[in-house]
Amino acid sequence: MALIVQKYGGTSVGNPERIKNVAKRVAKFHAQGHQMVIVLSAMSGETNRLIALAKEISPNPSPRELDVVISTGEQVTIGLLSMALEEMGIKARSYTGGQVRILTDDSFTKARILDIDGDNIRRDLDAGAVVVVAGFQGVDEAGNITTLGRGGSDTTGVALAAAIKADECQIYTDVDGVYTTDPRVVPEARKLDTITFEEMLEMASLGSKVLQIRSVEFAGKYKVKLRVLSSFQEEGEGTLITVEEDKNMEQPIISGIAFNRDEAKITVLGVPDKPGIAYQILGPVADANVDVDMIIQNVGHDGTTDFSFTVNRPDYDKAIKILEGVQAHIGARAIQGDRTMAKVSIVGVGMRSHPGVASRMFRTLAEEGINIQMISTSEIKISVAIDEKYLELAVRVLHRAFGLDQAPV
Ligand code: ADP
Ligand code: ASP
Ligand code: MG
Repeated sequence: MALIVQKYGGTSVGNPERIKNVAKRVAKFHAQGHQMVIVLSAMSGETNRLIALAKEISPNPSPRELDVVISTGEQVTIGLLSMALEEMGIKARSYTGGQVRILTDDSFTKARILDIDGDNIRRDLDAGAVVVVAGFQGVDEAGNITTLGRGGSDTTGVALAAAIKADECQIYTDVDGVYTTDPRVVPEARKLDTITFEEMLEMASLGSKVLQIRSVEFAGKYKVKLRVLSSFQEEGEGTLITVEEDKNMEQPIISGIAFNRDEAKITVLGVPDKPGIAYQILGPVADANVDVDMIIQNVGHDGTTDFSFTVNRPDYDKAIKILEGVQAHIGARAIQGDRTMAKVSIVGVGMRSHPGVASRMFRTLAEEGINIQMISTSEIKISVAIDEKYLELAVRVLHRAFGLDQAPV
């Protein structure tokens, strides 16, 4: 008998039929004697609908009120699944984040989990019930409803698993595991049997939305056994996120390719090439809560230089406005930007022991005439910023160039 947390995403609970299917799967595990805690997302499309609704009332809603609205999608699905289980004769109890008491900080719309009270859950489990918890939400110290950022139900699942010391956390979604890249973009993408936490962290932070990055951080920190599986297949081992690299296998050089469409590039031209300039440019941007990603400062000529960086596309206008405000003060000649950038990243722990990975990546892109506008690297990843219109092409050719479409020997 094991204690298992299962998280089902939006597509998996997208209509009553699918909710009944989830109930059947949960019932099967329950019948085998396992203690089950189920974490649910809202029905697919629902969170988007709620956000759009809020924006119709107010273009810039108060984050507190926005969370009150967008947390409701999950309250619907947990109630429905509990009903479906009861229909099958299984005792079930639903809990919102506040009812469990998933305590978060007060950063509305992107709150962090601080503590989880497992008492209610344990009591119900001991009484033989299935516990159904709303993902994506918590409460702050003052009792305000908070949400955990898009895709946050993954994090609820893993954090709960850590808090109640579950034997395993299973993330059920609409694909049967973690793939070498998004299978909706590259049909030849292959499912991975295992991927290391390090690699999964990079993939998630570089745009693969199959797991929210914080869920991977939690799993790594609290040693939660984490698996991604399909809610539409009866069988299948999915993908196990592992601490250890698989020593028995020849490590592939690259494990996966991640990408993010929503990038924008900003260049500050002709700034004085002197100490403190990066701070003068990026300080005000950071103060406005705009995340800066890739950064390059060019070689100076005649005492001036150009400085470029990328931001998330939704922050582009705000960042440009801030820089225009400080342009005279910095002494910059001009500010330019491009809001249709994308970032493509190759990820793999095998990179550590294989030189020449970057040159192969750059050659592959060059052969397709794709211009690389910025580059950033870490020990296990290389990212490039390119024009968005080449994104799919870039991902496909890199996938082939690194042999990801072929099963490892
Ligand atoms: P859920 O609603 O279940 O949380 P998401 O839409 O958040 O599901 O995440 C699953 C989706 O992630 C898949 O449908 C797939 O398109 C996308 N995805 C992106 N990168 C990958 C990858 N490397 N492996 C698998 N799926 C990926
Ligand atoms: N419903 C939330 C979202 O769409 C949380 C989640 O699905 O994980 O982002
Ligand atoms: Mg998700």
